[in-house]
Amino acid sequence: MTQTFQLTGRCLCSAVEFSFENKNLDHPSACHCGQCRQWSGHVWATVNIPLAALTFGKGEADIKWHRASDFARRGFCGTCGSSLFWHADGLEKHKDQIAVALGALKAPTGIKLEEHIFVADKGDYYDIADGLPQKNNN
Ligand SMILES: [Zn+2]
Repeated sequence: MTQTFQLTGRCLCSAVEFSFENKNLDHPSACHCGQCRQWSGHVWATVNIPLAALTFGKGEADIKWHRASDFARRGFCGTCGSSLFWHADGLEKHKDQIAVALGALKAPTGIKLEEHIFVADKGDYYDIADGLPQKNNN
């Protein structure tokens, strides 16, 4: 990425709007774990950004957090239910990052998926055929 610009995202009903700079973006990936599939309805794709880089245009108070594991929480719109954030706030190494749903971002994002993660947990109803690396962890 050569040029710096603001990425913007929102939930389906637009109650939640957020933005961040396209800097220090890390590990754009599609997660096939059971939690992500259950939560999103299919595969959940995210990019990690510095937590401090995330700013809200509106709706931060409308976000509900679901603690699906003891070390992480999942943020979604309390009105329309859009799956927006995954935050490992209980892990010292990761608590200063937050994973943002790629599907919530307005194009063009300039982001490309790098790999598939937790593919051992993938559903039996689809194949992964895009040629990207497949891992059984993150
Ligand atoms: Zn919403």
